Amino acid sequence: MRLQNLMSPLSRNRAKNMRPLFAPDLLRVWEQGQAEHLLDKALTLLHAAFPDTARNKLAELSIGQRDTYMLKLRELTFGSKLNCFAECPACKERLEFVIKTEDILLLSESGEKKYELEIDETLVHYRMPNSLDLAAIAECGDVDTARNQLVQRCVVQVIRDGDKVDWSELPAPVKAELVAHMAEQEPQADVILDLRCPACDHKWQTVFDIVSYFWAEINAEARRLLYDIHVLALAYGWRESDILSMSDTRRQFYLGMVT
Ligand SMILES: [Zn+2]
Repeated sequence: MRLQNLMSPLSRNRAKNMRPLFAPDLLRVWEQGQAEHLLDKALTLLHAAFPDTARNKLAELSIGQRDTYMLKLRELTFGSKLNCFAECPACKERLEFVIKTEDILLLSESGEKKYELEIDETLVHYRMPNSLDLAAIAECGDVDTARNQLVQRCVVQVIRDGDKVDWSELPAPVKAELVAHMAEQEPQADVILDLRCPACDHKWQTVFDIVSYFWAEINAEARRLLYDIHVLALAYGWRESDILSMSDTRRQFYLGMVT
């Protein structure tokens, strides 16, 4: 399993100890995440899967690592099949297709990876962006400023001609190359799907974001659970916690008798 190869800050043992989200977790996570930014929704989900890991440690996972865990959590909770749909930008045909979590799990490097780029006598050490970095630039309205701030946060050290220099002193072409280089290092943070329309043969690419996808499912499942609780509580007078602790099979059986 690729998750065993994942890097710190979560230990390998922790990765194996990920727990799926059960009905009570789903409702709790959904309730907490309602008012949260998508970045925080992701952390709320992961914190439910790793209750013994501090939330700020989870926030230090690079976005690629975060999304690897997110895919694994989705797999444990709802299975590995992801039902997707897209609209053809050329003819508006609606496409339905299935991808599997293992098809888009890309991160497999083991151990601590050092990120560096050498260009024009300049050696830049950097790390990959994490949730804290993205949160810091979330309110920034200008794309170039946001990108600049993000890279600045992630640069650990710059050495030019043997001396430490500040990131701000780098010439613009070096900065631009660093931005491009960083973007290539963690494909899991940016999953691209190649699509082809069966009706008009148009080909295009689309970004697959596991956090938005998983959250939409959590949202639908939580609403379904609340409705089921409403129906069963009304019919039998059972408490919410009792209804939630039933298996889905048993809950559906009772629902079938009262609806
Ligand atoms: Zn088409």
